[in-house]
Amino acid sequence: MRTNEQYFTQAKNSIPGGVNSPVRAFGSVGGTPRFMVSATGPHITDAEGREYVDLVCSWGPAILGHAHPLVVEAVQEAAARGLSFGASTPAETELAELVRGRISVGAAAPVERLRLVSTGTEATMTAIRLARGFTGRELLVKFAGHYHGHSDALLAEAGSGLATLSLPGSAGVTAATAAQTLVLPYNDLDAVRAVFDEHGANIAAIIVEAAPANMGVVVPDPGFNRELSRIAVAAGALLILDEVLTGFRVGPAGWWGLEAAGVVPDGEGWTPDLIAFGKVIGGGMPLAGLGGRADVMNYLAPLGPVYQAGTLSGNPVAVAAGIATLRLADAAVYARLDAVASEISAAVSSALSKEGVVHSVQRAGNLFSFSFTAESPRDYVQVKAQESFRYPPFFHAMLSAGVSLPPSVFESWFVTAAHDDAAVSHILAALPAAAAAAAAAIRP
Ligand SMILES: *Cc1c(COP(=O)(O)O)cnc(C)c1O
Repeated sequence: MRTNEQYFTQAKNSIPGGVNSPVRAFGSVGGTPRFMVSATGPHITDAEGREYVDLVCSWGPAILGHAHPLVVEAVQEAAARGLSFGASTPAETELAELVRGRISVGAAAPVERLRLVSTGTEATMTAIRLARGFTGRELLVKFAGHYHGHSDALLAEAGSGLATLSLPGSAGVTAATAAQTLVLPYNDLDAVRAVFDEHGANIAAIIVEAAPANMGVVVPDPGFNRELSRIAVAAGALLILDEVLTGFRVGPAGWWGLEAAGVVPDGEGWTPDLIAFGKVIGGGMPLAGLGGRADVMNYLAPLGPVYQAGTLSGNPVAVAAGIATLRLADAAVYARLDAVASEISAAVSSALSKEGVVHSVQRAGNLFSFSFTAESPRDYVQVKAQESFRYPPFFHAMLSAGVSLPPSVFESWFVTAAHDDAAVSHILAALPAAAAAAAAAIRP
């Protein structure tokens, strides 16, 4: 049997950095990434045979717990009928109808059409092209610290000085592409109004994470999303709501559903023009989707002039996993997710407080994260200003005790409905030593 260290060394010889997605390399916490071999319920097992209580959960999809027997059965049955046809299947319509029905509150049902794709990156990339094609405009507004996948237009960063001078967020993104994306501070409606005053006639869309969870969790100010929608509508631009992470996870109709139903205060009375889905919609298989207004969605090929396609789009095995997952994610599942999130976040906070570690807890539904700041951050600048050096020792103490946390302080924690009392007790037992390690951390 080889060790994680040996697998990592070997992987680095044939895979860039040894990983197929950068966060897996443990770059911000140091140490050796665990190579995983299996997972069931709330547990994940590495190549050395060590079992962890998992709080990454594939970054969200495993909402029912890993390898839920009924999801696995649906996948096996679909696989036995054929892995991919390159033609339409009845199940794709079934999933579209399921999503359309779930994303509705009262009379509002913003998913009039749904196009299936394979990744969240594709969903947001398509949304932007579609918004540009529909409006005939070029500029895009996004917010600093929001992640929408890795397409060129969305890898732009705020430049210093003027908010409207964006810079490439990655080597290989051209300055010309970055310049068409205006990057604004989050939760700052004055900045949004100012940019619309100046460029409104050429802005195709605002794209926003429904509740940001890729800089840790940062909660939108009450009414923020609704006001974005109002500003976009007034200027003839579209609002693209990125629910790749929050969709079907924070509630049956995602974050928008919580706002529309008044669960989140002061959020009622608006609908996004387009919504991007991913993660939970595929139940752990590569599946994502773009939904929205019929008149906008019908601009996509074959009906409209905006091109978009995919050999594996609507893949039958992935669709089977998505349907099974969404059908099983009922009110009891969401109640359990909320209860587990409350229990764990409160316990982490109390352990840190006992050690005198200055911190705050951010929560958006059952998503939560911590930052080493006295106040909950409201934007990316505040997120980055925390004592992030306290996280690596905390993370490694938890890992040694058999709890797998996100390998970065700038990520949300994820729970599943399979996190039972035993799993939660295991996490709670590991906290005092981890909090002590965070307290003892020395500023580099
Ligand atoms: C994960 C994520 C994406 C990208 O999805 P991929 O499937 O990784 O391409 C886009 N937006 C948000 C909010 C995400 O969390």
